[in-house]
Amino acid sequence: QAHLDRIAAVDADVHAFLHVNEHALDAAADIDRRRAAGDHLGPLAGVPLAIKDVLVTTDMPSTSGSRILDGYMSPYDATVVARSRAAGLVPLGKTNMDEFAMGSSTEHSAYGPTRNPWDLTRIPGGSGGGSAAAVAAFEAPLALGSDTGGSIRQPAHVTGTVGIKPTYGGVSRYGAIALASSLDQVGPVTRTVLDAGLLHDVIGGHDPHDSTSLAHDWPSFADAAREGADGQVLKGLKVGVIRELPDSGFQAGVSESFRAALAAMEAQGAEIVEISAPHFEYGVAAYYLILPAEASSNLAKFDSVRFGLRVDVPGGTVEDVMAKTRDAGFGDEVKRRIILGTYALSAGYYDAYYGSAQKVRTLIQRDFAEAFAQVDVIATPSAPTTAFRLGEKIDDPLQMYLNDVTTIPANLAGVPGISIPSGLASEDGLPVGIQFLAPAHEDARLYRVGAALE
Ligand code: GLN
Repeated sequence: QAHLDRIAAVDADVHAFLHVNEHALDAAADIDRRRAAGDHLGPLAGVPLAIKDVLVTTDMPSTSGSRILDGYMSPYDATVVARSRAAGLVPLGKTNMDEFAMGSSTEHSAYGPTRNPWDLTRIPGGSGGGSAAAVAAFEAPLALGSDTGGSIRQPAHVTGTVGIKPTYGGVSRYGAIALASSLDQVGPVTRTVLDAGLLHDVIGGHDPHDSTSLAHDWPSFADAAREGADGQVLKGLKVGVIRELPDSGFQAGVSESFRAALAAMEAQGAEIVEISAPHFEYGVAAYYLILPAEASSNLAKFDSVRFGLRVDVPGGTVEDVMAKTRDAGFGDEVKRRIILGTYALSAGYYDAYYGSAQKVRTLIQRDFAEAFAQVDVIATPSAPTTAFRLGEKIDDPLQMYLNDVTTIPANLAGVPGISIPSGLASEDGLPVGIQFLAPAHEDARLYRVGAALE
């Protein structure tokens, strides 16, 4: 009830939610009944959970921020939602996002932007701005997001929250409306590292419904966060800093906060090691070929027949109906990426664009492999700037894309990443995050290090 009251009080301004669960209190009462009946519920039983609208739910619409899925009801729950319900979490509602998770500001939502609770004239990040804003505004204690190129970590950075992109395959993608299947990963958005670990323990692990889900024996991430809390883990920890990451493009306050966090780690016994990852900065270029290519294929299913919107064309052909429906149902950014993707995949250009981008992806994976032979984690600022103003970058796709320069490489390589708050920028007093990356399967290391710094 407290969270529903908070939503009623602030969400007209913040607009973190696309849908609030009118049955949340019934679900909470049901938890009490299950507990009384001796049902073994985990430590998060009864805790409300905000769910990014990219995740399908049977009892609330799932739009992925798009007009084309307006009012769409899924016949099944995403695995992460089903696991959350089974553990007794109470779905609080569905959160706003850039359409089909394409964006860094939530301004590409078909349902209007979300605003940053720290300053309502500023963006909450994207694509999962709704989840991050809901957590930052105390509308929800925990949220689920999805991260294809930074959509959990960059919103966490600009809202002073914690966001984790797990190892690719660590959390099921079943029921996450696909953006780019080789990059997408679902993860937690929370206020503390321990909270994220608790939620990750609920949603993670092998799922036979997702063919890329890893059959791996994961440790408890909540335990990892608890182990890290006393800071001992920082003693002797080798922290890699990327030599080639250009200082230009980073806001002064972001760089200062990053250096201060490194100094604090050093003071607690960590060793800062300069490493070379020469292809890291080409991640954005490779990503904006690979992502549109996969997205153009994934979005082909919105054909006016199977899901959501259909615009009738009297006397028209199937193709006319399809074209009119996709024209009316998709926003500009989605259309831009479908065109980019189909172009990159077309026969004459495939090798030059998609093929080259895949080679760069391999080079980035090699950079990581070599770096992790020398260091335990890699640290970067989570994003180049603090929250910018609504409208500032909306007409400049390239500037919008460059927000993800530090987050994208983790998706290309499949490695896990965490963003935790590292303070406030000196020039504008807005939140800044520091990102840590670890080798695949080593998500627990990120929880230890994140909790140690918190
Ligand atoms: N901002 C990036 C993009 O627009 C990341 C999106 C995401 O992670 N879903 O593609």
